[in-house]
Amino acid sequence: MRYLILSDVHGNWDALSAVLRRVRRKRFDAFLVLGDLVGYGAAPNQVVEAVRGLPGPVRLVRGNHDKVVAGLETGENFNATAHAAALWTASHLTAANRRFVRELPAGPMPIDERVAICHGSPLDEDQYLFSALDALEIFTHFHGPQIVFFGHTHLPSRLERGPTGLQVALLSGESGVVRIEPGRRYLLNPGAVGQPRDRDPRAAFMIYDGDAGIVRWYRIPYPVERAQERIRKAGLPKSLADRLALGL
Ligand code: ZN
Repeated sequence: MRYLILSDVHGNWDALSAVLRRVRRKRFDAFLVLGDLVGYGAAPNQVVEAVRGLPGPVRLVRGNHDKVVAGLETGENFNATAHAAALWTASHLTAANRRFVRELPAGPMPIDERVAICHGSPLDEDQYLFSALDALEIFTHFHGPQIVFFGHTHLPSRLERGPTGLQVALLSGESGVVRIEPGRRYLLNPGAVGQPRDRDPRAAFMIYDGDAGIVRWYRIPYPVERAQERIRKAGLPKSLADRLALGL
């Protein structure tokens, strides 16, 4: 099985289209999308339509921004900028795309015998997973497949439990590999396609190759200034444009 794994696109069409141009789309058995298709960025319809039109099975879970944009939650826990962006997005999505976002299922979602996906954590779709303590909680209480792909933090990362304990690492640089070993469990975050927060503005994604037992992560440049221009033209908060160039 070969999967393309995308998370936190956040209405950033310029980043998503760069990723889709970079990979050979026809070579995947499925596309796994870990939530937050929309919110923050100024091209939500293009993003939703591109994901709906991917050439193969698309397995999606919803993110916290998707829920607020769809009207399933009020977003009272959002900061003012995120909330303004969610309201803007709700009023600019077409009816069909809004319905699509509204109907996204909650994670975790099993994909095959070795893989599941979620937005925040497999125990709570809104939980942020950063630390070894977070990983310990999940590995203790979640008895699912060996590999769980998650998003939400916008930080490419690997949380792993093996015979000698827990390991947590940020995945930095242009690309790299996580080798899936028997007897170990993995929580893997591909990072954000559309709003990276590890001070690297490049779009992030992962590819899982089940036969080789390998997950590879990638960072690729995209025309950040085009996404910024869309945000400014849309009248969205200017900080949403500024942060894209900084990877914050
Ligand atoms: Zn997000």
